[in-house]
Amino acid sequence: MKKYTRVIPNHYSLPRRIGRLSELAYNLWWVWNPDAQRLFSLIDKHLWHRLLHNPVAFLRQVERPKVNAVTNDLYYLELYDRVMESFDRYMKAEQTWFGEHFPGLQKSQISYFSFEFGLHESLPVYAGGLGVLSGDHLKEASDLGLPMVAVGFVYNEGYFAQKITEDGWQETRSQYLNFNEMPIISLVDENSQPLLVSVDLVDRSISARLWQVQVGRIPLYLLDTDVEQNSPVDRKLTARLYSNDPEVRISQEILLGMGGVRALRLLGYQPTVWHMNEGHSAFLTLERIREKVQSGVPFDQAAAEIRKGNVFTTHTPVPAGNDQFPLWLMDKYFAHVWPELGLTRDQFIDIARHAQPWGEMFSMPVLALRLSEQRNAVSELHGHVSRQMWHFIWPERSEDDVPITHITNGVHTGTWLARRMRLLFDQYLGPDWLEHVDDPEVWARVDAIPDQELWAVRQHLKRRLMSFANERARYHWQAGNIHPVQVVASGVLLEPYSLTIGFARRFATYKRGNLILRDYDRLMRILNNVDMPVQIIFSGKAHPADEPGKLVIQQVYRAVKDARCSGRLVFLEDYDMNVARYLVQGVDVWMNTPRRPNEASGTSGMKAALNGVLNFSVLDGWWHEGYNGRNGWAIGDGKVYADPNQEDEADAASLYDVLENDIIPLYYHFRSSDNLPVEWLARVRDSIRSLIPQFSMKRMLKEYMNELYYPALQAPESPMTVSQEE
Ligand SMILES: *Cc1c(COP(=O)(O)O)cnc(C)c1O
Repeated sequence: MKKYTRVIPNHYSLPRRIGRLSELAYNLWWVWNPDAQRLFSLIDKHLWHRLLHNPVAFLRQVERPKVNAVTNDLYYLELYDRVMESFDRYMKAEQTWFGEHFPGLQKSQISYFSFEFGLHESLPVYAGGLGVLSGDHLKEASDLGLPMVAVGFVYNEGYFAQKITEDGWQETRSQYLNFNEMPIISLVDENSQPLLVSVDLVDRSISARLWQVQVGRIPLYLLDTDVEQNSPVDRKLTARLYSNDPEVRISQEILLGMGGVRALRLLGYQPTVWHMNEGHSAFLTLERIREKVQSGVPFDQAAAEIRKGNVFTTHTPVPAGNDQFPLWLMDKYFAHVWPELGLTRDQFIDIARHAQPWGEMFSMPVLALRLSEQRNAVSELHGHVSRQMWHFIWPERSEDDVPITHITNGVHTGTWLARRMRLLFDQYLGPDWLEHVDDPEVWARVDAIPDQELWAVRQHLKRRLMSFANERARYHWQAGNIHPVQVVASGVLLEPYSLTIGFARRFATYKRGNLILRDYDRLMRILNNVDMPVQIIFSGKAHPADEPGKLVIQQVYRAVKDARCSGRLVFLEDYDMNVARYLVQGVDVWMNTPRRPNEASGTSGMKAALNGVLNFSVLDGWWHEGYNGRNGWAIGDGKVYADPNQEDEADAASLYDVLENDIIPLYYHFRSSDNLPVEWLARVRDSIRSLIPQFSMKRMLKEYMNELYYPALQAPESPMTVSQEE
């Protein structure tokens, strides 16, 4: 362990009375506590939105007179005191679920590794669902009091900002993140130099500095190779997510897995549990074996020992989507490692050898599956698919006995629930509903919410979404960087009394963002029925190297611009957690059209359900479990097709039928005398009641704790004796 200091800039010269705002800014607890966010937005609402709700940038840029003004505002000061008190109570963690249920394990440590973390839009170091799941995982670990520590990357060029040309082509803009204006803390050694870890890559050693993001009670350490010790090329190694260059990928993964273990050791951690969220971090297994082999333990024994504490979560239902490296690349990067493990080259490759139609590969999920005692998929259906896909690793077992269990994903309630919806729940579900969000009994009380109030909040959230779209369109129009037709495309003709459908996700072809365009004339009739108009809002990015994905965006965008759609099809540029929040809170229906069984779980529909939005989706991933016939709608009947074209045809037909016969009439007919859609609201209640507890991150993380972490924590491992630097 090395001595180090956390450097939190404190140059805001805030008035003493509200001086702790700078401390609050550096703990992401504010992300899921709307009152804490209000402490910033109340000072200057416009600036707060313009800076993407980033409190660090906000405190640096806000005008001092505005800050001074709130110190005379009694309402503000009362809110400030209340928030700080609840923050202090939270951080003291005197009573937590973990403390209560696992009193003997308070001193243990659970480490969590992921390639990306989606915590908030002001920290754009995530690409999509995997990252957002990791972020939600940490927030809930904090809420439940789990002794967790996490490791990942800070990508200083972010993912990318999306710009759509007038012709609908996705262009990517690089971002350059300024860490001085982000809620991220620098770690330095006793000479005030960045704290470094290093790993060997072929002919050189590269260094990475460590940053810390504080997520409630949980520290997240982020590696960053942009340091002067590295060559210019190596400084860029962690600049971007998901490079297609296999050399960059293997280097990043060596750094995350092996460098990540070294980083935790350097900081003084001795975790018992090592959770790999997806295979990108699986080299950590090799580093842990190497530590033991270097202290004299034979390979087999070392591998058997470290397996007990390892947990692996797989997220990928298609073989080609899995992370794997050609053997020549492994030879290049690991030739110096296998002697350190006491293995020959072939013994080493055998650990994760995977014969693919395109040749032999070293497979990261195979490595993780072989070297973890606990393994899980992320939904029931994905569990079946995974057991089938990885059966070859356990050929002596029947497929059903392949030791991969499933824990279905969930979402972090506080992060995704609209403030107004939260107030409604506070009023009708009892004061401590949020602590018991995973308890179905709490949700039996949802009938107590009057139709009128529920509908008022739903309409409010819809108007908020539309004014958000309007303001963005206005901003781009004013800045002169869009064509007039793009003003329409970005949603200025939307209105809050029409049934509004949201479709936002990564534009990968299997998600079929264009499925609803299949029978274009039928779609026109649906959109433009003057008595019952329908609006559809699209949003999402394609991976920069995914040309077919970009073509789907273009196809959608051309429809959006078509005057025949009368401004009722919309594309919101640059999907991120901010856009996602507006959408999952503001639309009426959340649509999802993956080709089965490609959607391992999906989580955006869970966020929608939380806010009283109804799901309309193919019975894939989580919806296969969530749909009960009354709480939303299904597209198709779950049938498996050999021919994708036939599948598209059948699913599109089902999509139009359900829209025309069920969804649209339910929304517009069955109105009460005061024009409330009473049948619709009954369905919303069914959705809230059945989906919120089951697909909460609290339910999910308790299952991880009970079914995966607890057994791993029980595994006695001889204590590590790593050489300790002074
Ligand atoms: C929730 C979320 C996702 C994942 O949603 P899916 O249902 O898996 O498509 C992706 N991106 C962002 C920004 C999200 O908030």
